[in-house]
Amino acid sequence: MEIFLAEYLGFCYGVKRAIKIARENADGKSCTLGPIIHNPQMVDRLKSEGVGVVENLADLKEGTIIIRSHGVGPQVYEEAENINLKVVDATCPFVKKAQLSAKKLVEEGYQVVIIGEKNHPEVKSIFEWSDKKAIILETEEEAKQLSSCQKLGIVSQTTVSGERFRKIVEQLLEKSSEIKILRTICTATDQRQAAALELAQKVDVMLVIGGKNSANTTRLAQLCKKYCTTYHIETAEELTPEWFNEVEKIGITAGASTPDWIILEVQEKCQTILEK
Ligand code: SF4
Repeated sequence: MEIFLAEYLGFCYGVKRAIKIARENADGKSCTLGPIIHNPQMVDRLKSEGVGVVENLADLKEGTIIIRSHGVGPQVYEEAENINLKVVDATCPFVKKAQLSAKKLVEEGYQVVIIGEKNHPEVKSIFEWSDKKAIILETEEEAKQLSSCQKLGIVSQTTVSGERFRKIVEQLLEKSSEIKILRTICTATDQRQAAALELAQKVDVMLVIGGKNSANTTRLAQLCKKYCTTYHIETAEELTPEWFNEVEKIGITAGASTPDWIILEVQEKCQTILEK
Protein backbone atom coordinates (compact mmCIF):
# COMPACT_ATOMS: atom_id res chain seq x y z
CA MET A 1 0.00 0.00 0.00
CA GLU A 2 1.27 3.47 -0.86
CA ILE A 3 0.48 7.02 0.19
CA PHE A 4 0.70 9.87 -2.32
CA LEU A 5 0.52 13.61 -1.67
CA ALA A 6 -1.04 16.00 -4.20
CA GLU A 7 1.55 18.19 -5.93
CA TYR A 8 -0.07 21.31 -4.46
CA LEU A 9 -1.82 21.12 -1.09
CA GLY A 10 -2.32 23.03 2.13
CA PHE A 11 -1.68 26.67 3.04
CA CYS A 12 -1.76 29.12 0.17
CA TYR A 13 0.14 32.39 -0.03
CA GLY A 14 -2.77 34.47 1.33
CA VAL A 15 -3.32 32.27 4.36
CA LYS A 16 0.39 32.05 5.22
CA ARG A 17 0.58 35.83 4.98
CA ALA A 18 -2.53 36.36 7.16
CA ILE A 19 -1.22 34.04 9.88
CA LYS A 20 2.20 35.70 9.82
CA ILE A 21 0.53 39.13 10.19
CA ALA A 22 -1.65 37.85 13.06
CA ARG A 23 1.38 36.39 14.86
CA GLU A 24 3.31 39.65 14.45
CA ASN A 25 0.43 41.36 16.28
CA ALA A 26 -0.10 38.73 18.99
CA ASP A 27 -0.01 40.98 22.04
CA GLY A 28 -3.08 39.73 23.92
CA LYS A 29 -5.03 42.82 22.82
CA SER A 30 -5.45 41.86 19.18
CA CYS A 31 -8.42 40.06 17.73
CA THR A 32 -9.39 38.91 14.30
CA LEU A 33 -12.81 39.88 13.00
CA GLY A 34 -14.25 36.39 12.64
CA PRO A 35 -11.92 33.36 12.51
CA ILE A 36 -8.79 34.26 10.51
CA ILE A 37 -9.13 31.16 8.37
CA HIS A 38 -11.66 28.34 8.11
CA ASN A 39 -9.67 25.97 10.26
CA PRO A 40 -10.70 25.57 13.91
CA GLN A 41 -7.39 23.95 14.98
CA MET A 42 -5.37 26.91 13.66
CA VAL A 43 -7.77 29.40 15.24
CA ASP A 44 -7.33 27.69 18.64
CA ARG A 45 -3.55 27.74 18.27
CA LEU A 46 -3.56 31.47 17.53
CA LYS A 47 -5.80 32.07 20.57
CA SER A 48 -3.21 30.38 22.76
CA GLU A 49 -0.55 32.66 21.24
CA GLY A 50 -2.50 35.87 22.06
CA VAL A 51 -4.76 36.52 19.06
CA GLY A 52 -8.44 36.31 19.97
CA VAL A 53 -11.53 36.33 17.79
CA VAL A 54 -14.49 38.72 17.91
CA GLU A 55 -17.54 38.45 15.71
CA ASN A 56 -18.39 42.18 15.81
CA LEU A 57 -16.26 45.32 16.07
CA ALA A 58 -18.41 46.45 19.01
CA ASP A 59 -17.16 43.45 21.02
CA LEU A 60 -13.64 44.95 21.06
CA LYS A 61 -13.39 48.06 23.20
CA GLU A 62 -9.72 48.77 22.51
CA GLY A 63 -6.66 47.27 20.85
CA THR A 64 -6.12 45.97 17.35
CA ILE A 65 -8.57 44.47 14.93
CA ILE A 66 -7.06 42.16 12.33
CA ILE A 67 -8.94 41.86 9.06
CA ARG A 68 -8.77 38.25 7.87
CA SER A 69 -7.80 37.03 4.41
CA HIS A 70 -11.44 37.02 3.17
CA GLY A 71 -11.57 40.79 3.58
CA VAL A 72 -14.40 43.09 4.65
CA GLY A 73 -16.38 45.97 3.17
CA PRO A 74 -15.16 49.59 3.30
CA GLN A 75 -17.57 50.52 6.10
CA VAL A 76 -15.77 48.18 8.53
CA TYR A 77 -12.55 50.23 8.20
CA GLU A 78 -14.55 53.42 8.87
CA GLU A 79 -16.35 51.91 11.84
CA ALA A 80 -13.07 50.68 13.35
CA GLU A 81 -11.54 54.11 12.95
CA ASN A 82 -14.57 55.73 14.59
CA ILE A 83 -14.15 53.62 17.70
CA ASN A 84 -10.37 54.17 17.75
CA LEU A 85 -9.29 50.63 16.99
CA LYS A 86 -5.98 50.02 15.25
CA VAL A 87 -6.64 48.19 11.98
CA VAL A 88 -4.22 45.58 10.67
CA ASP A 89 -5.25 44.45 7.23
CA ALA A 90 -4.51 40.81 6.38
CA THR A 91 -6.88 40.71 3.40
CA CYS A 92 -5.31 38.48 0.78
CA PRO A 93 -4.00 40.65 -2.08
CA PHE A 94 -5.97 38.50 -4.57
CA VAL A 95 -9.20 39.16 -2.66
CA LYS A 96 -8.29 42.85 -2.50
CA LYS A 97 -7.93 42.79 -6.28
CA ALA A 98 -11.45 41.34 -6.67
CA GLN A 99 -12.85 43.96 -4.26
CA LEU A 100 -11.18 46.88 -6.04
CA SER A 101 -12.13 45.50 -9.46
CA ALA A 102 -15.80 45.45 -8.40
CA LYS A 103 -15.50 49.02 -7.11
CA LYS A 104 -13.86 50.25 -10.34
CA LEU A 105 -16.42 48.51 -12.57
CA VAL A 106 -19.26 50.22 -10.67
CA GLU A 107 -17.50 53.57 -11.04
CA GLU A 108 -17.19 52.93 -14.78
CA GLY A 109 -20.94 52.33 -15.05
CA TYR A 110 -20.99 48.54 -15.34
CA GLN A 111 -23.65 46.33 -13.79
CA VAL A 112 -21.34 44.13 -11.72
CA VAL A 113 -21.86 40.39 -11.43
CA ILE A 114 -19.95 38.38 -8.82
CA ILE A 115 -19.70 34.67 -9.59
CA GLY A 116 -19.55 32.93 -6.23
CA GLU A 117 -21.36 31.74 -3.14
CA LYS A 118 -23.83 34.29 -1.79
CA ASN A 119 -23.14 33.50 1.85
CA HIS A 120 -19.36 33.33 1.65
CA PRO A 121 -17.67 36.16 3.62
CA GLU A 122 -15.31 36.94 0.73
CA VAL A 123 -18.23 37.35 -1.68
CA LYS A 124 -20.03 39.53 0.85
CA SER A 125 -16.91 41.72 1.09
CA ILE A 126 -16.67 42.07 -2.72
CA PHE A 127 -20.38 42.94 -2.76
CA GLU A 128 -19.79 45.69 -0.17
CA TRP A 129 -16.98 47.15 -2.31
CA SER A 130 -19.39 47.28 -5.28
CA ASP A 131 -21.39 49.75 -3.20
CA LYS A 132 -23.87 46.90 -2.69
CA LYS A 133 -24.82 47.14 -6.38
CA ALA A 134 -23.47 43.81 -7.61
CA ILE A 135 -25.60 40.81 -8.47
CA ILE A 136 -24.25 37.53 -7.07
CA LEU A 137 -24.67 34.46 -9.26
CA GLU A 138 -24.07 30.94 -8.01
CA THR A 139 -25.43 28.84 -10.87
CA GLU A 140 -25.83 28.73 -14.65
CA GLU A 141 -29.60 28.76 -14.10
CA GLU A 142 -29.39 32.07 -12.24
CA ALA A 143 -27.18 33.46 -15.03
CA LYS A 144 -29.75 32.44 -17.67
CA GLN A 145 -32.43 34.38 -15.80
CA LEU A 146 -30.42 37.61 -15.56
CA SER A 147 -31.98 40.52 -17.44
CA SER A 148 -29.96 42.11 -20.24
CA CYS A 149 -28.11 45.32 -19.53
CA GLN A 150 -25.95 47.83 -21.36
CA LYS A 151 -22.61 47.22 -19.66
CA LEU A 152 -21.84 44.05 -17.74
CA GLY A 153 -18.74 43.66 -15.57
CA ILE A 154 -17.89 40.21 -14.24
CA VAL A 155 -15.65 39.32 -11.28
CA SER A 156 -15.46 36.12 -9.27
CA GLN A 157 -14.92 34.74 -5.81
CA THR A 158 -11.24 33.74 -5.73
CA THR A 159 -12.05 30.10 -4.90
CA VAL A 160 -14.59 29.44 -7.66
CA SER A 161 -13.60 26.55 -9.93
CA GLY A 162 -12.41 27.51 -13.41
CA GLU A 163 -15.10 25.24 -14.91
CA ARG A 164 -17.95 26.87 -13.00
CA PHE A 165 -16.69 30.34 -13.88
CA ARG A 166 -16.53 29.42 -17.60
CA LYS A 167 -20.02 27.89 -17.65
CA ILE A 168 -21.64 30.90 -15.95
CA VAL A 169 -19.75 33.37 -18.15
CA GLU A 170 -20.99 31.47 -21.23
CA GLN A 171 -24.56 32.21 -20.14
CA LEU A 172 -23.76 35.86 -19.56
CA LEU A 173 -22.23 36.52 -22.99
CA GLU A 174 -25.72 37.01 -24.45
CA LYS A 175 -26.76 39.50 -21.81
CA SER A 176 -24.92 42.61 -22.95
CA SER A 177 -23.09 44.08 -25.93
CA GLU A 178 -20.33 45.43 -23.68
CA ILE A 179 -18.88 42.89 -21.27
CA LYS A 180 -15.74 43.19 -19.18
CA ILE A 181 -14.58 39.90 -17.66
CA LEU A 182 -12.10 40.00 -14.78
CA ARG A 183 -11.23 36.42 -13.92
CA THR A 184 -10.31 37.05 -10.29
CA ILE A 185 -9.79 33.38 -9.48
CA CYS A 186 -6.52 32.83 -7.66
CA THR A 187 -4.00 30.32 -8.98
CA ALA A 188 -3.73 28.57 -5.58
CA THR A 189 -7.28 27.29 -6.00
CA ASP A 190 -6.75 26.17 -9.59
CA GLN A 191 -3.46 24.48 -8.71
CA ARG A 192 -4.91 22.60 -5.73
CA GLN A 193 -7.98 21.51 -7.68
CA ALA A 194 -5.97 20.33 -10.71
CA ALA A 195 -3.46 18.46 -8.52
CA ALA A 196 -6.25 16.84 -6.48
CA LEU A 197 -8.12 15.75 -9.61
CA GLU A 198 -4.97 14.30 -11.12
CA LEU A 199 -4.23 12.32 -7.97
CA ALA A 200 -7.86 11.19 -7.47
CA GLN A 201 -7.69 9.42 -10.83
CA LYS A 202 -4.65 7.40 -9.79
CA VAL A 203 -5.61 6.22 -6.29
CA ASP A 204 -8.34 4.10 -4.64
CA VAL A 205 -9.11 6.46 -1.77
CA MET A 206 -8.61 10.20 -1.36
CA LEU A 207 -8.32 11.95 2.00
CA VAL A 208 -9.18 15.64 1.77
CA ILE A 209 -8.02 17.46 4.89
CA GLY A 210 -9.46 20.77 6.02
CA GLY A 211 -12.16 22.59 7.97
CA LYS A 212 -15.68 21.30 7.34
CA ASN A 213 -16.61 25.00 7.09
CA SER A 214 -13.95 25.68 4.44
CA ALA A 215 -15.47 26.29 0.99
CA ASN A 216 -12.28 25.46 -0.91
CA THR A 217 -11.71 22.20 1.00
CA THR A 218 -15.33 21.14 0.47
CA ARG A 219 -14.92 21.87 -3.25
CA LEU A 220 -11.76 19.69 -3.36
CA ALA A 221 -13.68 16.83 -1.77
CA GLN A 222 -16.56 17.22 -4.24
CA LEU A 223 -14.17 17.10 -7.19
CA CYS A 224 -12.29 14.05 -5.91
CA LYS A 225 -15.56 12.17 -5.31
CA LYS A 226 -16.08 12.07 -9.07
CA TYR A 227 -13.14 9.67 -9.37
CA CYS A 228 -12.75 7.65 -6.19
CA THR A 229 -13.97 7.11 -2.64
CA THR A 230 -13.25 10.35 -0.82
CA TYR A 231 -13.26 11.27 2.87
CA HIS A 232 -13.27 14.90 4.01
CA ILE A 233 -11.60 15.02 7.43
CA GLU A 234 -10.42 17.80 9.72
CA THR A 235 -7.87 15.87 11.76
CA ALA A 236 -6.05 12.52 11.97
CA GLU A 237 -8.42 11.39 14.78
CA GLU A 238 -11.18 10.87 12.21
CA LEU A 239 -9.23 8.25 10.24
CA THR A 240 -10.91 4.84 10.38
CA PRO A 241 -8.85 1.68 9.61
CA GLU A 242 -11.85 0.11 7.76
CA TRP A 243 -11.59 2.82 5.08
CA PHE A 244 -8.36 1.22 3.87
CA ASN A 245 -9.50 -2.42 3.55
CA GLU A 246 -8.44 -3.74 0.14
CA VAL A 247 -6.98 -0.36 -0.78
CA GLU A 248 -3.73 -0.19 -2.73
CA LYS A 249 -3.16 3.53 -3.11
CA ILE A 250 -4.16 6.42 -0.84
CA GLY A 251 -4.07 10.02 -2.02
CA ILE A 252 -3.88 13.03 0.31
CA THR A 253 -4.75 16.61 -0.43
CA ALA A 254 -5.64 19.58 1.78
CA GLY A 255 -7.44 22.88 1.43
CA ALA A 256 -5.66 26.23 1.32
CA SER A 257 -6.49 26.80 4.99
CA THR A 258 -5.09 23.51 6.32
CA PRO A 259 -1.88 23.78 8.42
CA ASP A 260 1.14 21.62 7.54
CA TRP A 261 1.20 19.99 10.97
CA ILE A 262 -2.30 18.52 10.45
CA ILE A 263 -1.32 17.13 7.02
CA LEU A 264 1.74 15.52 8.61
CA GLU A 265 -0.34 13.99 11.43
CA VAL A 266 -2.75 12.46 8.91
CA GLN A 267 0.15 11.10 6.86
CA GLU A 268 1.76 9.55 9.95
CA LYS A 269 -1.48 8.03 11.22
CA CYS A 270 -2.18 6.51 7.77
CA GLN A 271 1.28 5.00 7.84
CA THR A 272 0.64 3.51 11.29
CA ILE A 273 -2.69 2.03 10.18
CA LEU A 274 -1.07 0.54 7.06
CA GLU A 275 1.74 -1.04 9.05
CA LYS A 276 -0.64 -2.87 11.41
S1 SF4 B 1 -6.93 30.86 -1.82
FE1 SF4 B 1 -5.98 32.45 -3.07
S2 SF4 B 1 -7.26 34.25 -2.75
FE2 SF4 B 1 -7.76 32.84 -1.12
S3 SF4 B 1 -6.40 33.44 0.55
FE3 SF4 B 1 -5.34 31.85 -0.62
S4 SF4 B 1 -4.02 32.96 -2.07
FE4 SF4 B 1 -5.59 34.36 -1.30
